[in-house]
Amino acid sequence: MKNLPCTNIKVSRIAENARQMKAKCQSLGINLTGVVKGAAGDLRVAEAFLAGGINSLGDSRLKNIKKFKEAGLSAEFMLLRLPDPRRADEVVELADISLNSELITLKALGEAARAQKKLHKVIIMVDVGDLREGVLPGEIKDFLAEARHISSIEIIGLGTNVGCYGGVLPTPENTAELVELKSQLEASLSIKLEVISGGNTATTVLLDQGKMPAGVNHLRVGEGILQGPDITNQRELPGFNQQNIALSAAVIELKRKPTVPRGTLGHDAFGQQPSFVDKGERLRAILAVGRQDVRIAGLKPSLAGAEIIGASSDHLLLDVTEAGVDLKVGDIIDFELDYGGMLSAMTSPYLARNYLQ
Ligand SMILES: *Cc1c(COP(=O)(O)O)cnc(C)c1O
Repeated sequence: MKNLPCTNIKVSRIAENARQMKAKCQSLGINLTGVVKGAAGDLRVAEAFLAGGINSLGDSRLKNIKKFKEAGLSAEFMLLRLPDPRRADEVVELADISLNSELITLKALGEAARAQKKLHKVIIMVDVGDLREGVLPGEIKDFLAEARHISSIEIIGLGTNVGCYGGVLPTPENTAELVELKSQLEASLSIKLEVISGGNTATTVLLDQGKMPAGVNHLRVGEGILQGPDITNQRELPGFNQQNIALSAAVIELKRKPTVPRGTLGHDAFGQQPSFVDKGERLRAILAVGRQDVRIAGLKPSLAGAEIIGASSDHLLLDVTEAGVDLKVGDIIDFELDYGGMLSAMTSPYLARNYLQ
């Protein structure tokens, strides 16, 4: 019997996406790190990336990288979130490469690497406008002039990230800034910056438009391989499998009820004051899934005509009047997940996992 509520994870479709993204990048001489953080350390998903031919995995959490290594996954591991200098030892131990923007942290990584008799590779992040992580372009020269003297770390290149905080769109111009900086810095500091890590899923739009600036030789792609979308550019990656991770939940009550509650209205379980439009009696399904299980705003019923009308911690309410199917208690309803929904579903301890080929 199916354990519900659950996620349905189509691992072979994720592997196909990984293979396709790898080929797309390879044809332009771009190396790919497959970003698995959205699957919250799920081993089968990480294995699907490897089955698709990816040999470099990126994650934001040391805990996940540790899990992958302990499970014997053989890949290069890149730590995406800037390290906390307190955890420099673990970073050096677990990650082959980390992304960085702070001298204090680089010094801590250098010390940890020296103690472990390792050379730790780092990519220095440059902020080209999105205002999340990265050294500002005007400060990168001084930064590198100091960072290059830290022993036991190897600065392998520059990286940038857009789309995530400011929603800044990747353009040929802001992506090329990295390539221009590389030439300037290599000349003025006589250093070598081999890797130019141009961005995430959002930046693959430049591949599709044939506008990727020459010199970009690395990308870090997650959401597009996992679930198929490119949220920043509000598109689906063309030719990629979409909706590879979905959700199922069971109907536990099915009744015709009025649309407007009866009684004096206060606040709901989340402190909101709901308002109601009277649509008369409607057929309503209660599903055994709620806000403690998954981010409700990230769900979309696959059942045509069904509409989410509310949710509390443990219950999801659907108006199924227009669904035009004969539902009964115990039926299973499927939902599509957007990236936020997928993230919360994969992080949830309450959802069973159902792996499909
Ligand atoms: C999450 C992340 C990525 C991958 O982003 P997607 O949108 O999932 O492709 C790449 N780089 C960094 C630094 C990240 O944090």
